[in-house]
Amino acid sequence: MHELAVTKSLLDIVLQKKEEMNLEKILSIQLVVGKMQNYEEEWIQRYFEYVSEGTPAEGAKIQIRYLPVSFACKECGTEFEYNVKTDDKILCPSCGNMDCKLLTGREFYIESMEAV
Ligand SMILES: [Zn+2]
Repeated sequence: MHELAVTKSLLDIVLQKKEEMNLEKILSIQLVVGKMQNYEEEWIQRYFEYVSEGTPAEGAKIQIRYLPVSFACKECGTEFEYNVKTDDKILCPSCGNMDCKLLTGREFYIESMEAV
């Protein structure tokens, strides 16, 4: 399970931060996730509840801010969004070129966290 491994490393990071900052308890975690990662908020939350049981992060709320998948055309430089669910080909909308560079969509990081 990919999500489970990701959620575990997420827990490690926030617990380490908690130690460094001398905090008691983690209340919520704000994540930034690119849509290409295909992580459902519901599953991240569920896995997090499972892995954080008995830790100071138990019960923390996960909030995800999704970033769109976007590309830049290597021919003409046009930047465009790609819909993972409905678009099948990565194609520049202005010149039809298929050689495009990924700009956003693979992110997965902690933006902030709330702790006491
Ligand atoms: Zn183009």
